[in-house]
Amino acid sequence: RTSYPSFPERPSHYHSLFVSAALSDNSTAARHLHALTRVPHVAGTPANAETAAYVLSALASYSVQSRLTTYEVLLTYPISRSLSLTRPPPEYPHETAFSLRQEIYEVDHSSDVADQVLPTFHGYAKSGVAAGPAVYANYGRVEDFEALKAMGVTVNGSMVVAKYGRIFRGDIVRNAYEAGAAGAVIFTDRKDYGGCAGNESQWFPRDKWMPPSGVQVGSLYNGKGDPTTPGWPSTGGCERLSEAEIEEGGNVPLIPSLPISWADGETIMRTLGGDVAASDWQGCQDGPRYRVGPGPGVLNLSYFGEQKIVAIENVIGVIEGAVEPDRYVLLGNHRDAWTFGAVDPNSGTAALLEIAERLEKLRKRGWKPRRTIIFCSWDAEEYGLIGSTEWVEDNREMLASRAVAYLNVDVAVSGAGFHAASTPQLDRLWIEAAQQVVDPDNSSQSIYDSWVGAGSYPSIDRLGGGGSDFAAFVQHVGIPSTNFYFGGAYPVYHTMYDDYFWMEKFGDPMFQRHVAAASIWGLMALRLADEEFLPFDYLDYASELEKTAQELQEKVPGKKVDFDPLFKSIEELRKAAEKVNMEKKAMAGSRGWLKVRGLNDRLMMAERAFTDRDGLPGRPWYKHLIYAPSKHDNYGSKSFPGVSDAIEDAKTSNKTESWKTVQHEVWRVTRVIRQASLVLDGQL
Ligand code: GLU
Ligand code: CA
Ligand code: ZN
Ligand code: ZN
Repeated sequence: RTSYPSFPERPSHYHSLFVSAALSDNSTAARHLHALTRVPHVAGTPANAETAAYVLSALASYSVQSRLTTYEVLLTYPISRSLSLTRPPPEYPHETAFSLRQEIYEVDHSSDVADQVLPTFHGYAKSGVAAGPAVYANYGRVEDFEALKAMGVTVNGSMVVAKYGRIFRGDIVRNAYEAGAAGAVIFTDRKDYGGCAGNESQWFPRDKWMPPSGVQVGSLYNGKGDPTTPGWPSTGGCERLSEAEIEEGGNVPLIPSLPISWADGETIMRTLGGDVAASDWQGCQDGPRYRVGPGPGVLNLSYFGEQKIVAIENVIGVIEGAVEPDRYVLLGNHRDAWTFGAVDPNSGTAALLEIAERLEKLRKRGWKPRRTIIFCSWDAEEYGLIGSTEWVEDNREMLASRAVAYLNVDVAVSGAGFHAASTPQLDRLWIEAAQQVVDPDNSSQSIYDSWVGAGSYPSIDRLGGGGSDFAAFVQHVGIPSTNFYFGGAYPVYHTMYDDYFWMEKFGDPMFQRHVAAASIWGLMALRLADEEFLPFDYLDYASELEKTAQELQEKVPGKKVDFDPLFKSIEELRKAAEKVNMEKKAMAGSRGWLKVRGLNDRLMMAERAFTDRDGLPGRPWYKHLIYAPSKHDNYGSKSFPGVSDAIEDAKTSNKTESWKTVQHEVWRVTRVIRQASLVLDGQL
């Protein structure tokens, strides 16, 4: 056979139709969002099983073949908690007990629905009691604790009071533990979340900012996937780690903690003595002057939670490819929410369902995808990317041999302004797709125009960070991946005010950003699924690697490490990328389908080559040697993490031995880049 089986001649015609006003309308996303966010739906609860059933039937109604995949995983829920502050006389009252309750505003929920929100807590928090003088630790970063040490502040035996907003909360509690703290509370300073004008006209429900009692909950877990099954799937009856083994693994907190509101945070800050904190540690001007402590007030914290193995459900929907059914383009978004989840994550779910609806309309007009398109609705992301990670671990070899790309969306919309992240061979596709979709906030221009702004090239983030469901795809298996959102950090993140009312009033009143999210996400998927040649450009990967290699080299003093082999391997990658791009051009229209498939396989598999069986030093689950989360901030993305961590260690110890480790890590990335260039080159 020399030609393809029947296949729509001009997929781009369908792609233009897909993003046109003819196929989209803003009521679909609004309707799905409303249905999904009626009640709180935390992972492992009956309410979230209902959202799984909802997504399953919505996909089925759009003729997408769908099913549930279930895993049994360890989740945690709060049982009891309390927090009080004891002040020495002559202060009055001597003891303040915090209610830890978020105020219910009945504009959007009756109080019985609001009461279904879990008491505020930290996922996988250590159960127990802790007490000690309060110490203020700014954003709880490594450098903040170093600053306290330099000031001579005793953190040992204290209760750390830190602010949310710069690093992953699990790293804040870990840093507090490592500094010797007995426990920790984390608050959302109103300077960062509430605005400093300090009156209720700017707080929810009158405006989008955090009200005084709002509390950001969230997980502290620093691993990926079910803590009892690191690296293998949590299927019934499988091998599991014990509680002690999990604690030894170092990814769960070892001191109790609680999240608190800005009002409670300010109450504590008012009582602190000690030195006045630096100006960049201060809060709003009209608030208390922040001092670092310790004390004199003593914080008494108690938290008890239960940990149990519960069933979680991913929904997997498939539109089979007409030509290459064994090549997968995956779109994923999590469904579980800490509360109502209108922004996080169901703005993404609403967009996903709108894509399914539009694809049904395309199919009715004769379109079929060339490759298979897979919709994934993940469970238990909030606890530690659990649903997606278990599924990837379960299907690792199938995905490694068949997945073309994974397109993640967590929050689709929290406001205006487009942001994208990607493995670099997909940068160009992002730019082209953004040029094809109208800016939801200015219909006279494209998303690209507003994205690039006054610059000449838009900024595209990398996918090293944890924080969402792309992690297992990129960092564990090496699948080209993307992520995007409209908006960004939003004040009511992980609070009970992340609801439909907030979205309709402040996040996306006309739902046009949801429509644009569906357009650009769907368009990326369509181009990856339909184009004869995979729209990957590894020249961008090579340039990116070269830039990062230079940055790292500059961090190494003198000639302690030889970077030449690394630069040579990047040069080889560039040559191989040029070669494959030329072959693509030469082959276009040739109808040599086996050759086209072979070329595409090289493009698909080159990313896999960046992974290494042993993974990163001390972090064996992370197989990708180019991108991983920062060791000090699970949200932060690190490039060449092995090299960069080794440089940091070597700089601290400055031993010959530790510079040798840097050199070893440089060799390891050199070798994977060489492997990638050989795959792209395609000749033995
Ligand atoms: N997205 C969740 C959070 O930010 C989970 C992140 C993770 O576990 O990596 O809290
Ligand atoms: Ca697992
Ligand atoms: Zn999320
Ligand atoms: Zn979240």
